[in-house]
Amino acid sequence: MPSELLKAINPATGEWLKDIPSTTIEEVHHIYESAQKGYKVWKEFSIKKRLTYLKKLRLVMTDELDEISRQVSSNTGKVVTEALIADVIPTVDGIFHLEKHAEEVLSRKKVKTPTLFKGKKSYIEFMPRGVVLIISPWNYPLNLSMIPMISALVGGNCVILKPSEVTPLVGEVIERLFKRAGFPEGVVQVAHGDKEIGAALTSGNPDYIFFTGSVRTGKIIGEIAAQKLIPTTLELGGKDPMIVFEDANIERAVKGATWGAFTNSGQVCMSTERLYVHESVYNQFIEQLQKEVTSITRGHTEDSDLGSMTFPAQVDIVKAHIQDALEKGAKLICGDPPEKWDQTMFLPLTVLANVTQEMKIIKEETFGPILPVMAFQSEEEVIKRCNDSEYGLNASVWSRDLSLAQRVASQLESGSVVINDVISSVANHYLPFGGVKSSGIGRYHGIEGLTSFCHQKSITVDKGNKKTELQWFPYKGKYPILLSLFKNYFRDNRNWGKVLKDYYKINKKH
Ligand code: ADP
Repeated sequence: MPSELLKAINPATGEWLKDIPSTTIEEVHHIYESAQKGYKVWKEFSIKKRLTYLKKLRLVMTDELDEISRQVSSNTGKVVTEALIADVIPTVDGIFHLEKHAEEVLSRKKVKTPTLFKGKKSYIEFMPRGVVLIISPWNYPLNLSMIPMISALVGGNCVILKPSEVTPLVGEVIERLFKRAGFPEGVVQVAHGDKEIGAALTSGNPDYIFFTGSVRTGKIIGEIAAQKLIPTTLELGGKDPMIVFEDANIERAVKGATWGAFTNSGQVCMSTERLYVHESVYNQFIEQLQKEVTSITRGHTEDSDLGSMTFPAQVDIVKAHIQDALEKGAKLICGDPPEKWDQTMFLPLTVLANVTQEMKIIKEETFGPILPVMAFQSEEEVIKRCNDSEYGLNASVWSRDLSLAQRVASQLESGSVVINDVISSVANHYLPFGGVKSSGIGRYHGIEGLTSFCHQKSITVDKGNKKTELQWFPYKGKYPILLSLFKNYFRDNRNWGKVLKDYYKINKKH
């Protein structure tokens, strides 16, 4: 069957960029076969050797920084500066991080062996899982594909990437970058296509699935994977709260809220989607926020602050959430009601007040340039309201009193919390990233981001000189000695003399 074409469009201008041939369902089987062949070669490479390929990838990307950023920008509608700082650079930095730390994280780990296992040694090895299927979204199409890819690769896995059909040009960019870096055949494959290809790949034979996208699709993939006992990491949505206490640096908090809510037009799983401001500074905050938000410049030039939405279908969700809020009594502080919007993908930056916890804008992920603001009275109340959510990906707490901020951070049901800043934790490769509740299952980045792509293999070594073991047959005459041994072993002041005496008695006896 001839393959369909995926249209890469610049959503900011409507300009057609390129047609990218979709992978066909018939090719899926072949992709898995190639991956298996690639895996046989790749898993035998030492981590050091795998890292030489990743280093090459870093150098290729550094060489093409401008070109990659412009391609990401053209296919997403985000401004080129945001493509560079939030999509491309955290990816290159992620490779850099692995070059420095992966070998240590994934090398053999000696662990202690309890005295009851006298004479043995124990260690853990990290064994690759095999073929890792990565399904990625359109909002940070480079980073959310490449970080799991490089993390899986360094552990000795092969990778099949199914990038989002909404940003197919970026899928092609990723394919080109890995080709230029010279990875062996079958080690990295990119299957272009829509959800049907994604579904066919999921039903193929992956050893691990790493999915980033909507809760709805995450549940579908999780269900299919569970049938086959395929382990998964699911990185899903968020409804991240920001809490501003009365002693916060208001100027900074206003700027932080504006960036946190509107960067990438709010199409960020960790964007600020709920803002709670202490009632004593609420009016002052709203006034400054209005000024700050209206100063943001829109466009698609190097100097513009903010580009367009990426995915047309997302516009309808954003509209529905604003309409629902306005119907239920919310008040527009910035922006126009949806009926006044033009037909472009540059949605007005919207700030809403008089918002209640029952509105869609507070309950459901919006993924658009909207910031609902609410006043709160007490620490206890605001924590309760923040936690009253299906999601728990990220949150931010703003206060000059760091002990207060840390106390609140500890009580938030969230995968990450940032104090006096927003979003940035995801770019710290030392920190694990992932959600609680409907925001997802599993973690990546940090140590777990590498180890999760491997089986942890536990190895126990005995020199094999002793004739027998405590627990081996025959049991005849052993029970009273074992009782005495365990009694002396587990009592408060362990009696080592007696333990050892019983231990040798058993060994001698058998
Ligand atoms: P988003 O709203 O961010 O596009 P989706 O969950 O719809 O979130 O899509 C994220 C990724 O999942 C995309 O690459 C998409 O093609 C893929 N996808 C969507 N539905 C399925 C499915 N049923 N099986 C596998 N992949 C899917």
